[in-house]
Amino acid sequence: VFQEKTHETILNISLDNLIHNLNVYRSVLKPNVKLMVMVKAAAYGSGITQIGNLLQANDVDYLGVAYPDEGINLRLAGVELPIMVLSPEQSGYEAMIRFNLEPEIYNLRGFRAFTEKLKKSASEFENPYPIHIKVDTGMNRLGFEEHQIDELIEQLRSEPSVRVTSVMSHLAVSEDPNENDFTLGQIEKFERIAQKLEKELGYSFQKHILNSSGISRFPDAQFDMVRLGLGIYGVTGDKELQPKLKHISSLRSEIVQIREIEAGETVGYGRAEKASKKMRIATVSIGYADGLDRRLGNRKAHMLINNQPAPIIGNICMDMCMLDITDLTDVKEGDEVIVFGQNQTVQQLAKIMETIPYEVLTSVSGRVKRVYL
Ligand code: PLP
Repeated sequence: VFQEKTHETILNISLDNLIHNLNVYRSVLKPNVKLMVMVKAAAYGSGITQIGNLLQANDVDYLGVAYPDEGINLRLAGVELPIMVLSPEQSGYEAMIRFNLEPEIYNLRGFRAFTEKLKKSASEFENPYPIHIKVDTGMNRLGFEEHQIDELIEQLRSEPSVRVTSVMSHLAVSEDPNENDFTLGQIEKFERIAQKLEKELGYSFQKHILNSSGISRFPDAQFDMVRLGLGIYGVTGDKELQPKLKHISSLRSEIVQIREIEAGETVGYGRAEKASKKMRIATVSIGYADGLDRRLGNRKAHMLINNQPAPIIGNICMDMCMLDITDLTDVKEGDEVIVFGQNQTVQQLAKIMETIPYEVLTSVSGRVKRVYL
């Protein structure tokens, strides 16, 4: 891949700020509680191999990815940390075993298929292969249900090729104070199931259930490990915690051309913006193929130029969009344009997009170069 900068649409990422956020979360962990950082979806858009290596150098205990190829790319980039794969499918088991990636096992079908694959390559393994058991405690997405645990225990007992290295569950609504009872119910159910597994299997394993907002809101449920995602990337819904975190990424672009149009003229595809008066408009080199949601066009959102808001006008194009700069001062071609970062936060943009910050971060497309500061 050609790495030199040839284009001004860039996602700037501050590694210092990421480490700052890591330390903020570390400071609330009880002694001996391990830290898994979620680096799935290109480390929430920040670049999986760079962030993975940085986290390894900063003594994180585990990395979490969604799919095998994410973990394989980490291995190919020199990451040796244990890596848990959250949502593996059977087609990925063989590659996972080859690259020493640990599966989250969420049903008996997966358990049987994984142990079959292991047996085919069993000669290479001196020790049982580590697996993570996911139990469902209310999310109703992936995981063993409580009534399936007895059968799971039976299967695990008769299967020497694997060893449960952890038991986990995922919280559905940990960020919402109105749902504390539900979250506490999930934690209680998780503890009950994990204890039963531990007792029946006769050995101990790590237990973990907390994601970022769980870490800040349910400190008593840290168990042996926590799974930190969004928070390390500088974003949280927790109003007390947010000022302690630093934003790590800033999506920026550049004005490539400025023009004046007369009342009655139109802008862009579909002639969607019709000038009611003389206007000054700027064309910016970022479009929907860069991850700029096309629904943000037609004055739904703005970008910042010299800290001044410039509404996005007309339909967003594949590679460009146009801004209304009529009322802005001191704007010229070549000026920097901020989509998010600095004074327009990911949360503000998410609100306009009627989505969550996770989607804003992970939508920045692969075409946008990541530049590490
Ligand atoms: N654990 C699991 C199973 C997840 O799916 C995720 C993210 O979706 C996380 C932890 C991290 O969540 P968050 O980004 O809210 O910290």
